Amino acid sequence: MKHELPPLPYDYDALAPVLSERAMRLHHDRHHQTYVDNLNKALEGHPELQGVPVEDLLKDLDQLPADLRTPIRNQGGGHANHTLYWSLLCMPDSTEMPASLGRELERAFGDVEAFKTRFSTAAVSLFGSGYAWLAVDGAGKLEIMQLQNQDTPLSFGRTPLLTVDVWEHAYYPDYENRRAEWIKAWWRIVNWEAVAERLQEAQPTRSSNEDLRPGDFAS
Ligand code: MN
Repeated sequence: MKHELPPLPYDYDALAPVLSERAMRLHHDRHHQTYVDNLNKALEGHPELQGVPVEDLLKDLDQLPADLRTPIRNQGGGHANHTLYWSLLCMPDSTEMPASLGRELERAFGDVEAFKTRFSTAAVSLFGSGYAWLAVDGAGKLEIMQLQNQDTPLSFGRTPLLTVDVWEHAYYPDYENRRAEWIKAWWRIVNWEAVAERLQEAQPTRSSNEDLRPGDFAS
């Protein structure tokens, strides 16, 4: 049983002009594929773990055999992070932020613009390679994380809701060394509906109960 590269959930040119077809082919067909191949290679000696979802392996790196911890963190993280990343993108300017998500961002960061500013800063200022993240913990608290390489909030007990890839391979074909320009353009291809859905799945009880007032329980 091997991990497989999932196809993009849209055409290679769907994100243009924010990301070119060429950049998407390189990123998905070469870079993501390499993480999948290296993950499968690392799992060759561990048939008992080959059927475990990679996200589950990443949630508990300490429980893995010692020789697997680094390859799962890097190659497994690379596979899981890219799969999630593709699912959170869409055609430029094609979704609007659902009100439910906007309220949660206001609650956590003051207002939506403040969230965007802080998230952009995390993405632009990350030294070297990695991702900026919006994640939620078990108590429903939202936070922005800046993680190196292929590390994921899953390994820190959090559920990732949104992420931007700031490895050079993610933007160099279109933006060369201009990372800030990439981040500014990237906001146009965020699939806000997908982000809101992930938040709802991460905290189903809270989102269905939070609007109830004590009086609502009176019969
Ligand atoms: Mn990447």
